[in-house]
Parts: sequence; structure tokens; C-alpha cells
Amino acid sequence: MDSAGQILRRAGLRCTTGRLRILEVLQKAKGPMTHQEILAAVEPVGLNRVTVYRALDAFCQADIIHRVEMGDRVWRFALCLYEDAPYCHPHFACRACGRVECLDFIRVPRVNETRNGYKIEEQEVYWKGLCSKCAANLS
Ligand SMILES: [Zn+2]
Ligand SMILES: [Zn+2]
Repeated sequence: MDSAGQILRRAGLRCTTGRLRILEVLQKAKGPMTHQEILAAVEPVGLNRVTVYRALDAFCQADIIHRVEMGDRVWRFALCLYEDAPYCHPHFACRACGRVECLDFIRVPRVNETRNGYKIEEQEVYWKGLCSKCAANLS
């Protein structure tokens, strides 16, 4: 995996200590993280809410992370692990443990236009059910 510094430089973003720390937290994350969770991880090293908001905003603009919203009005943030324009990956929420995951191993074709003149500008695919752990526990 590229270092946080490499990712920032490639995206043309300034490499501040705060940005590096926040990006490192997202690199180590097991799944998309909320503002709260990211803030909790970087507060001990002296970063505040505003720094986190600004950094996440800049990362989203530069397409190095993406936002996930599962219908619960909570934004979560995750690293973009691959750029594969004709496809997007679905997000999965487990109804038992509440975990939200990027299903990077599944590729869903992107739809850019429909036959009847609509222009698609965003595509979010999310699935709900039981994650592999909970499905195994409940069977
Ligand atoms: Zn689960
Ligand atoms: Zn994702």
C-alpha cells in the first residue's frame, strides 16, 4: 500500500502532519469510519474537529476517499482503493452488528445514462443483511 505521504502528493495536496495522521487512520481502518470515530483517533495527537472536517473535505474533493451514507444520515469515510471508472463497489450494512463495509471485491457496473433521457450523476449502491461473521453465528 502507498504511504499516506505518497497518496497526498499524487493527489496534489499539501502534506501537513494533520492530514498525514488522518489519512493513516483511514488506511488502518477496517471499514468506513464516521467523523466521530476519526476524531476520536486523532484527538490524542492534538487535532481538532475543524482540522478533521477540512481534511476530509479536501480528500473527498481530490477523490482519495469517498463518502458513504447508508440511509442513517451518518456520513462515513473510506479510502478509495481502486479507480475503475466503469464500476463501483457496493456498501454493506449488517443489521445484527451494525458494521458498515466497502465490498471492494464486488464490482457493480456504473450506469451513466438511461434510454429515456435521464442523466445519472451519482450512483450509490448499498446492500443490507448479515455480515459474514454474524451470518456464521446465526446459522
Ligand atoms: Zn454483523
Ligand atoms: Zn466504499
